[in-house]
This record gives sequence, C-alpha cells and structure tokens, in this order.
Amino acid sequence: MANMIRGLSENGGVVFCGVDSTEIVREAERIHKTSATCSAALGRLLTGASMMGMMQKDASDRITLRMKGDGPAGSVIAVADGFGIVKGCIDYPQADLPTRADGHLDVSGVIGHDGILTVIRDNVNLHDPYVGQIPFASGEVAEDLTHYYAVSEQVPTVCALGVYVDTDLSIVCAGGYLLQLLPGATDEEITQLEKNIAAMPSVTEMLRAGKTPEDMMMMAMEGFNPNVLDEHTVSYRCDCSRERTEAVLIGLGRKELERMRDEEPSCEVVCHFCNKKYQFDLNEILEKVDREAENKAE
Ligand SMILES: [Zn+2]
Repeated sequence: MANMIRGLSENGGVVFCGVDSTEIVREAERIHKTSATCSAALGRLLTGASMMGMMQKDASDRITLRMKGDGPAGSVIAVADGFGIVKGCIDYPQADLPTRADGHLDVSGVIGHDGILTVIRDNVNLHDPYVGQIPFASGEVAEDLTHYYAVSEQVPTVCALGVYVDTDLSIVCAGGYLLQLLPGATDEEITQLEKNIAAMPSVTEMLRAGKTPEDMMMMAMEGFNPNVLDEHTVSYRCDCSRERTEAVLIGLGRKELERMRDEEPSCEVVCHFCNKKYQFDLNEILEKVDREAENKAE
C-alpha cells in the first residue's frame, strides 16, 4: 500500500511530500534495538531522508544525511535512494535521556544541541558528489533540515517530522511532510501557507487520529487546490551484498589485509545498516588481490 504522496498546488508554486513512515521506523527499531529517544532521533532522520530522496530530480540520485552532534547517541545517519527507499544507523542506539518537561522525547538532547549536519547528494552515473555542511539549528532534526534547505539550497521549506514511541518501546506511528515553495511565490501565498501550517496538529497527532499523508496535504495546502502528483510505497531496505562487502575489504589494500590475516585469518564484516554478517577467509581475499594485480600488469 502506498505510504508516500507527492502533490502540487494548482498554480504549480508549492510542492508537497508526505509520508507515513511507521513501518520504516519499526524496522529500524527491530534492527538497531534503539532506546525510545534514539528511535525518535533515527526515525525522524530516516523519515526526512526518505522524502528528500523522493524529491530528487533523478531516480539514480542518492542522498545521505549525517547528524554528528555532541549528544550521547553519537552520529546518526540515513541514506535514501531516488525512490525513497531508506536505511540508517546510529552510533549508540541504547543511549537514552529522561523525557522532557513537556512530555516529549529529548531528541536534541540525545543527538546534541551543537553539531554538524552533512548532506551528501550523489548519483551513480556521476563522479563528484555534492556535499553540504551546516551547523545544527536545534538538533531536533526537522528544524535542521529546514535550515539546511534555506541556507544551502535557498529553497524555502517547511518540514515536520514525528515518531511516537509507546512505553514498551514499540513504535505507535511515525511520519512527516515537506512543503517547498518554488520561485515566484507571492507574499499572500506565503502568509496563507504559514496560517495553514500553524493550524495543523503535530504529525503523530494526525496519524494517531487516522489521517493519511493525503489528508496532511489537503490541510497544508488548503486554498491552493492541490493535486496528487504520484504515490509510492517506501520502506527500510539495505542494499548491501557479499560482492560489495568484499570490494570494501579489497579496497583496504594488501598491507592492511596481511596485517589482519596474521592476527586472525577468518574475518567477519557486519553491515552497520542491517546487521547482516558476512564471513571471509582473508587468505582467499589476498589471493584475489594478487590475481587482480596480475591481471592489471598484463
Ligand atoms: Zn546491510
């Protein structure tokens, strides 16, 4: 079933992307065994990355978001392809903090109030990735992404993200939306949008009330006669493979591989994004390195 929707205002000046990312965040929690606050932190970043992936121009574009802050969770990373398929990881998934006085999970506390958001856009057909870096706006994720769009890409953006975690750590719901103004928006339109957004409940309140991403679009773009552009099913999926993992090992170089082999000839590589384990015999890997070197020499 589609869980992501994209829409456009009738006059073409406002784009919307909304997602119910509940299943994505559930999968992230299952893989990483995150604490409540880390589920919210990683879940928000995954939700944002999935939408930013989908908003890219080319389906072969990929986007990586990394928040490296001074909080106990360490770095939080999310990677999405051009179809909004996303994966992520967090340095210290068990890190947790007491709930804030207002009852919300302390996401900026666990990620950090000070830090750097790095956005990497790369395309499988291009060599040089685009890398943007910006200090955190708040560490609450949505504000940081909004700030990034405004400063680095000069696109006025509204971003809302939410993850609702139950007391037993299960994910009740998660989702978000992105609203972007294309060049040429009038002051009246901006004022109207601001009014719409201010009147909207939080993402998790809307999801818990049974609202869909399309309902969110109708509320956010009230007065703009929005049309649905397309609908997609986005999920958490890791694209790691034995071949790619082997290529990473080979990339370490003969000297490092020999050092590792002398320590322990069998080697296990664990994928950070899905915890899949790959076993390698380093003697075999070294043989491959030699064969490749011979082929190159010929
Ligand atoms: Zn993986």
